[in-house]
Amino acid sequence: MKIKLAGLVADSIVDGPGFRFTIFTQGCPHHCEGCHNPQTHDFSGGRYADCDKIIEKIQKNKLTSGVTFSGGEPFCQSEACAYTAKKLKELNYHLMAFTGYEFEQLIAMSDKDKFIMEFLNCLDIVIDGKFDLTRRSLELKYKGSSNQRTIDVRESLKQGRAVEIEI
Ligand code: SF4
Repeated sequence: MKIKLAGLVADSIVDGPGFRFTIFTQGCPHHCEGCHNPQTHDFSGGRYADCDKIIEKIQKNKLTSGVTFSGGEPFCQSEACAYTAKKLKELNYHLMAFTGYEFEQLIAMSDKDKFIMEFLNCLDIVIDGKFDLTRRSLELKYKGSSNQRTIDVRESLKQGRAVEIEI
């Protein structure tokens, strides 16, 4: 399975709790004004990488406790992300994803794309919503603007509504 990447970052402490490995996917349809990663927007940019090779790379650093899917828009590559996340969950990593979609949109989209739900089922946390420059704040943990939510995915899927959590 291949995933289209904008980049990989090891030993990140800014993309979620603990020592994390961050997978930046290439391609984003949201075009939020003030986006920090505009180079990740172009779906024809980036490079393909083998998901199993990325997983091997992640396992090399024993201090890594979590993996974050960022972008770009990870849910635009739902099949590759679901494949990778499933394997990482079996290895007990804490999994998190950033998405410009709102949680409710993802649930609606999952009717037509089963990999969205497969991906969600592996995730612990989703930070959802587009970056809103008018609501930007530097005080927010891991988030860029106050409209974005930190969502407990398991609890949200259980309750059928977005359940927010502090991390
Ligand atoms: S969703 Fe993220 S990567 Fe995409 S435009 Fe918005 S801030 Fe940038």
